[in-house]
Amino acid sequence: MTHLSRAGLLRLVAAAPLALGLTAPAARTASAAPGGAGADAERAVAEARRASGADPLGLLRRCVAGPVLLPTDAEYATEAAGFEVAHTPAPRLVVGATRAEDVRAAVVYALAVGAEVRVQATGHGLEDDLRDTVLVTTRRLGGVSVDPKARTATIGAGVRWREVLDAAAPHGLAPLLGSASAVGAVGYSLGGGTGLLSRQHGWAADAVRSLDVVTGDGRLRTADAKRDAELHWALRGGKSGLGVVTRAVVDLVPVTRMRGGAVFFAAADAAAVLHAWRRWAPTLPREAATSVALLALPPSLQLPPPLSGKQVVSVRFSHTGDPAAADALVAPVRTWAPVLLDSVQELPFTASDAVHTDPTDPAPTVNGGTGLRELPAAAVDALLAAAGPGSGSPLVAVELRLMGGALSEAPEVPDAVIGRGAAYSLWGLGIVAGPAGAQARPALDRMVASVGRWACPGPLNLAGGGRRDDLRTPEQRKRLEKARRRFDPAGVIG
Ligand SMILES: Cc1cc2nc3c(=O)[nH]c(=O)nc-3n(C[C@H](O)[C@H](O)[C@H](O)COP(=O)(O)OP(=O)(O)OC[C@H]3O[C@@H](n4cnc5c(N)ncnc54)[C@H](O)[C@@H]3O)c2cc1C
Repeated sequence: MTHLSRAGLLRLVAAAPLALGLTAPAARTASAAPGGAGADAERAVAEARRASGADPLGLLRRCVAGPVLLPTDAEYATEAAGFEVAHTPAPRLVVGATRAEDVRAAVVYALAVGAEVRVQATGHGLEDDLRDTVLVTTRRLGGVSVDPKARTATIGAGVRWREVLDAAAPHGLAPLLGSASAVGAVGYSLGGGTGLLSRQHGWAADAVRSLDVVTGDGRLRTADAKRDAELHWALRGGKSGLGVVTRAVVDLVPVTRMRGGAVFFAAADAAAVLHAWRRWAPTLPREAATSVALLALPPSLQLPPPLSGKQVVSVRFSHTGDPAAADALVAPVRTWAPVLLDSVQELPFTASDAVHTDPTDPAPTVNGGTGLRELPAAAVDALLAAAGPGSGSPLVAVELRLMGGALSEAPEVPDAVIGRGAAYSLWGLGIVAGPAGAQARPALDRMVASVGRWACPGPLNLAGGGRRDDLRTPEQRKRLEKARRRFDPAGVIG
């Protein structure tokens, strides 16, 4: 193997999927039959081993243009680190992908050595320590190009929403990002993706036109409504266990400005504010988004004095329609209790982070939540008893988000998103370091259990706990499992 030139090695890796015998559509269809997937998996592994020869790591190093880092390498820890620092990533090795071919080489290597492939763009969604995996980092897969006529953006897998926002804005367009523009556009979209524009324009996953993806069989495919349509369905909302996306084309929407911000109240007024919010929120039109959050804010010079170090209730509001209509809609909020601070104002849409003001510094946290079919008074009371002020809950954020509108509707091109039946989503966040660190997870569980009577599947991105196939209907789970067996027969993609 080692006598081959670099070009020869690249050709070998490029040819590996062919050698895996997985390219013939007939063979792939057969793999979906009971027993077929196992045979395909064995073949995939055997052929990857043969392609990699006696020195899979040597082959990987020669084929990958980006860094290949082992735990003994100085840059390893920095390359593997992400925004979530509750876990210290300890993969077997890290491949810093610079192009789709690097990702293919990583997948073939993982097949050959029997390791799982995991992907990281920003680490906002890191949920374990990645032990014994092959970690593909996508941050070098950059680039955003906007097609103003088609109203689309073509984005590299490592791109954060901030870059898409900034590239789209000069054309009067915006992407369907979430509450924080530092989140990765691809990971967010694969998990569904609910943000300020979603009640009007739907899930971010619905807006994904096409995906370039290296599937678990080592092939680079383009999945859209016509080509590999089942993969296109599965990735958009299915998120994990299929492949590593290298590039995506997403729809943009015509938005340039908003009325947006938050009205803050003291935690002592939490009951009055939450009950008022639950009556007011469902009356809002689609161009409005809102959430209410119980927040334990840290002492910080960056926070205005009325908020620094305080427990507060924050009513977030945004509206992209007529400004006068927005002002009339938000006015009643200011009467619910004495206002500590009111930041609702006219903003360029590029400043949409100002609505939720999510933390921008890494912290060791655990988070999760559920969808809610409805939010009667009893549900608010139960939530306040479990996680409200005076409950002893160590959670630093407990958020109710209004869903509905386009989030409840079927998309033009079907996908594997879950949570369309939720009228609200409930999400909590706890710090897992310090004296109360061990109590964060149980407190999160208590928060979710408190509203169990009204619960239904909510956004996958906000559910916590990884894949969460338990939230899917049996039909959706079956279809997704079938897609995973077909595109990742050896189950190499985590
Ligand atoms: C501060 C903050 C605010 C948030 N706000 C929202 C919100 O408003 N709405 C919402 O829906 N979610 C929100 N989230 C959740 C967020 O969408 C998920 O955590 C998402 O997975 C983050 O994606 P990432 O790529 O940035 O993170 P990463 O940790 O890099 O990736 C997370 C996962 O995404 C998948 N993934 C990433 N890139 C690829 C790829 N190229 N190919 C295949 N799979 C890939 C993998 O499964 C990976 O494990 C928020 C999270 C944080 C921390």
